[in-house]
Amino acid sequence: MREDFLAGAATAGAPDVAHSLETHDDVRLLRSGTPPWAIDRFPLPHEPLSEDCRVDVVVVGAGITGSLVAEAVTATGASVMVIDRALPGRGSTAASTAMLQWEIDTSLVELAGLYGYERAARIYRRSHEAASDLGRLAAALRIDCGFVPRATLYVGGDDVGYDALAEEHALRERAGLPGALLDAATLEERFGIRRPAALVSPGSAEADPVRLSLGVLRTALERGARLVEDDVVAYDSTAGAVHLALASGRHVEAGHVVLATGYAMPSFVPSDLHKVVSSWCIATAPQREEDLWPGRCLIWEASEPYLYVRTTGDGRIIAGGEDARTADAAERERLMAEKIERIVKKLRTLWPHGHGRVSHAWSAEFGETTDGLPLIGAVPGQPRLLAAYGYGGNGITYSYMASRMLAAEIAGERREWFDDFALDRDGPKG
Ligand SMILES: Cc1cc2nc3c(=O)[nH]c(=O)nc-3n(C[C@H](O)[C@H](O)[C@H](O)COP(=O)(O)OP(=O)(O)OC[C@H]3O[C@@H](n4cnc5c(N)ncnc54)[C@H](O)[C@@H]3O)c2cc1C
Repeated sequence: MREDFLAGAATAGAPDVAHSLETHDDVRLLRSGTPPWAIDRFPLPHEPLSEDCRVDVVVVGAGITGSLVAEAVTATGASVMVIDRALPGRGSTAASTAMLQWEIDTSLVELAGLYGYERAARIYRRSHEAASDLGRLAAALRIDCGFVPRATLYVGGDDVGYDALAEEHALRERAGLPGALLDAATLEERFGIRRPAALVSPGSAEADPVRLSLGVLRTALERGARLVEDDVVAYDSTAGAVHLALASGRHVEAGHVVLATGYAMPSFVPSDLHKVVSSWCIATAPQREEDLWPGRCLIWEASEPYLYVRTTGDGRIIAGGEDARTADAAERERLMAEKIERIVKKLRTLWPHGHGRVSHAWSAEFGETTDGLPLIGAVPGQPRLLAAYGYGGNGITYSYMASRMLAAEIAGERREWFDDFALDRDGPKG
């Protein structure tokens, strides 16, 4: 007999979310519970540094961002050292739902309101291009990470009805971005989803973020990058080089340093555009193919707080959201049962045709910016220090974008459009 969809999920069927497989304190603070990704597999040679040394580029952080930066910089022939105080790919990357979208948390209409149409359209087109190029990279490197191209379904929510989505669609069309506007009847007929309207857009994808991250890092290591286990505790950046002090007492001198430390941002990085919240997620037991929506598109909802939903290769439904303005691990765990219950309820309303129980539940810190754009480029006042902070619901697409931009910047090929993502851009303050 089939169980009712997620019946009693948040209580009887939910895993013991307070129990974490992780042992590393930094990771425990960042992420609680267990996501469905292969977090304990694919070990990489992650060793302490036995002597002081000098390299062209140090990348601090071995999540998806640092891995992509290391891959891009090693492709230019520079010597690279990646330093992480925990296991690679086990920070917020392991908590990600990895909906690899070109759509940005801030709608094109909103972004045009902030920066004008031309700049907003240019930013959206860059994001679209980055999402496609990330897919091409995963294919070229033959990374086995469940990478599947998917359309997205941006569904109307509490505040966003047909007219608002029609306005967004018109602006996207003007910017040359792909997608179609669906009214309520067409949406229900094509996808079995009852909402006032939706935008369906090709060009996004899904993947296992840990396997993607480790696969990219493995390529960088094969090209000669070193992966060092240590905590960077001090940065001294000068006109000629950056000197790093590590917790082990070792020192490294680098021509450039890229900060890819995720939501653990050093205090000298200006942060008035960014804030850290927490997000909660669940995964269900595998569903039958016929119980999933057509095309298994990535679904995200235009509401506050929003819901985001995807499926996995083995047929699980992943749903997340309920973001709250806390970065406190104990508070996150305290709120877990309540947040999971709400996500399950919303998921049941959106898609009442699934079945089974919640198999995984987890929560993590989630970085956002006031304009929905990443923080990429020179750290003001810190020569040779560059930042790669791909915040937001399409953070991994931004990680890819950051990797290409910073590799070019280090090689002396700076472009004018990089300013759109500069840390000291004149954006709305938090
Ligand atoms: C719940 C959740 C859902 C998400 N869903 C999506 C999604 O669907 N799509 C999407 O595109 N994005 C999503 N994101 C965002 C995306 O996952 C992140 O933007 C991305 O994973 C960040 O990767 P990162 O490599 O920058 O950071 P991390 O993965 O956190 O890696 C940073 C690394 O830096 C290391 N580090 C930090 N400080 C130091 C130091 N001083 N010395 C040495 N090492 C250090 C840490 O140990 C860590 O390994 C989601 C995020 C969360 C939390």
